[in-house]
Amino acid sequence: MKIACLPGDGIGAEVAAAARDVLSVLVPELEVEEHVFGGAAILARGTPLPDETLAACRDADAVLLGAVGLPQYDAADVRPEQGLIGLRKALDVYANLRPARQKPIDLIVVRELVGGLYYGPKGTRDDGTVFDTLEYHPSQVQRIAHRAFALARRRHGQVTSVDKANVLETSRMWRRVVNEVAADYADVRLEHMLVDTAAMQLVTAPERFDVILTENTFGDILSDEASAVTGGLGLAASASLGDDGPGIFEPVHGSAPDIAGRGVANPAAMLRSAALMLEHGLDLPAEAEKLSAAVDSAIDRAPTKDLGGNATTHEMVAAVLIALER
Ligand code: NAD
Repeated sequence: MKIACLPGDGIGAEVAAAARDVLSVLVPELEVEEHVFGGAAILARGTPLPDETLAACRDADAVLLGAVGLPQYDAADVRPEQGLIGLRKALDVYANLRPARQKPIDLIVVRELVGGLYYGPKGTRDDGTVFDTLEYHPSQVQRIAHRAFALARRRHGQVTSVDKANVLETSRMWRRVVNEVAADYADVRLEHMLVDTAAMQLVTAPERFDVILTENTFGDILSDEASAVTGGLGLAASASLGDDGPGIFEPVHGSAPDIAGRGVANPAAMLRSAALMLEHGLDLPAEAEKLSAAVDSAIDRAPTKDLGGNATTHEMVAAVLIALER
């Protein structure tokens, strides 16, 4: 088993180091190779996703990514974030899994990641009108729906498919295809919900959800909302999966230049992403479970500043290691 670790920039490097420390204890046989990516790669090689880095990712069983972003590149032509978009596309990781947990909430957003509004034709017409296009092929809906139902089967057996079928043609097709896929999963309950209702219910009754299946733009917004109601950026993890080839596992947060270099970043989001990697990328569900439990315990015992405590990154990692020993 080999993983490609792309620490990236700012606190990305700090939380990636934390994940390496914990993984080396939990799964000693795991081979971890580090590669430059993002702003660090622009500085070293002039491009955010060097060919060698991409080749190493393709060759690995999973990609564990820190975060990218350097303030000096925010308005540049070549930006660290282009590395992220390029990597997701190159590995065709179309299913973005974003769990949100905090008692009694236990939900996961399954967001279509490589289609829809963000990838459709866009441009400017002669009269000055600017447009983006929302389009999906039924096959794109089918593959993400299968992911969601298969996942629900291993969880609490419920899929909420979120769309805007009262207004959008793509949503009406989305509903039809999701209903067709549901026929293969008679043991999973399916409900359809309009996105505006889903946005409200995520705030008023988040515990009612299990798997939320949705398209790219709605998923982008709803998954951030779900993280906000369950503890914020310092805890939010993600997995982006394709059909074959390695998945990408990364915290939702960015490089946090305001706290970078001070050793106070919350490593929990990264460690939870590592747990997702063990479960979905390396097929080590028992180790994933152990790591999740250890991180939960460390969040209680050694909370970092963003969680209202005063533990450093290092102290939270130490608490995770102690919990793993127990
Ligand atoms: P950010 O997520 O980096 O930070 C937002 C706020 O949350 C900051 O105050 C930060 O200190 C705090 N925060 C984030 N993660 C934390 C953690 N683990 N522990 C404690 N506090 C944490 O978002 P931003 O400030 O808008 O962006 C900074 C840079 O990161 C930008 O260049 C942006 O483009 C990039 N970015 C990258 C990603 C990614 O790599 N996936 C995601 C978002 C932003």
